[in-house]
This record gives sequence, C-alpha cells and structure tokens, in this order.
Amino acid sequence: METNVQVHNKEFELLLEEDTIAKRIRLMAIQLNVDYENRNPLFIAVLNGSFLFMADLMKEINLPCETEFIKVASYHGTNSTGSVKDALGMPSNIKGRDIVIVEDIIDTGLTMQYILSEIAKQEPASVSVCTLLFKPDALKVEIPELNYVGFEIPNEFVVGYGLDYDGLGRNLNHIYRAV
Ligand code: 5GP
Repeated sequence: METNVQVHNKEFELLLEEDTIAKRIRLMAIQLNVDYENRNPLFIAVLNGSFLFMADLMKEINLPCETEFIKVASYHGTNSTGSVKDALGMPSNIKGRDIVIVEDIIDTGLTMQYILSEIAKQEPASVSVCTLLFKPDALKVEIPELNYVGFEIPNEFVVGYGLDYDGLGRNLNHIYRAV
C-alpha cells in the first residue's frame, strides 16, 4: 500500500488509517450514547475541518439530538491583543442545553477556549468537548471540558479526513503527518 502523499508539493506519511479512525469513532459514539441518554444534547461542530468527523460520528449516535455548525473567523484587529475572533453561526438556543462541541483537532487549545467562552455566555446546562485529534504537547491552556478524545498525536502537522494543508487534502480518507 502506498503510504505517502503529496499535498502542495509537501510530502506526508500515513499516521491513522481510515479503518482505525472509523473504529475509534464508533467507540466514542458508544460512550456519548451512554453519557447523554435521555438528555437531548446539542452537538455543535466547528467547521471546516470537522465536517467528516461530525458526519461519521452522527451516524453512530442513536439519541434524540440536534446538530449545529459554527465557524471561527480570526481578524487582525486594532485592539491591544492583536487578533479578534468571531464565532459565525453560533446558535442562540443554548441556555439550559447539554452541549457537545465537535472539533477536528485541538492544538494550542486557544480556538476551543474562545468557543467555550462564547458558549458559556448563554448559560448552557453542561458543555463537553469531543475532538478527534489532540496534540497534548502543543496545548497552551487548560480545557477541563475535554471529555472525548479520539487520538492523542505528536506535535506535528497533519492532513486528511477533513483537515487541510493550505486548502488541499480535506478529501483524503486517511490522516497523514508531515514527513
Ligand atoms: P488551536 O487553536 O487549538 O491551536 O488550533 C485549532 C485549529 O488549528 C484547528 O481547528 C485546525 O483548524 C488548526 N490546526 C491545528 N493543528 C493542525 C494540524 O496539524 N493540521 C491542520 N490541518 N490543522 C491544524
């Protein structure tokens, strides 16, 4: 089996096979089905990278539940912190709900910290984070809500299964790391 791919002339090697990803997602869903029984959770996926993970995860969830999609935009603002974030498409019906945020990858954790702060403003009943990939060595902030992790991976750039390298590679079925 050919295990290396090129994306934008950069070489990547196989890290996680499609079957391995699918099996792990089934186990994550089983855990969610148990934990959220009778709770009608609201799953909020963070675009773009989580689109395949969210789709495959939802196929294994057998609870009554709702789904929403948000996108985090970063602007280079004029304030002192330099960068301003905006959560586009954030639902406004979060108060009192059990929220599960579905993310492709947590790297520094700064994006997730921002999303959690925006969600907290609406006073949900509970919030959990469910990420397919997690780079523990890159984490800069604590994320106590991180209850569901697919794979802990080394602090290396990865591509495939929804994740891109400069726009390309989201349609790769496996996950690859930079060589
Ligand atoms: P954080 O705010 O945790 O540093 O970064 C989160 C976002 O950075 C992810 O949602 C993803 O878009 C991007 N990201 C972080 N690490 C990687 C990576 O290894 N590969 C790709 N394709 N995106 C990454």
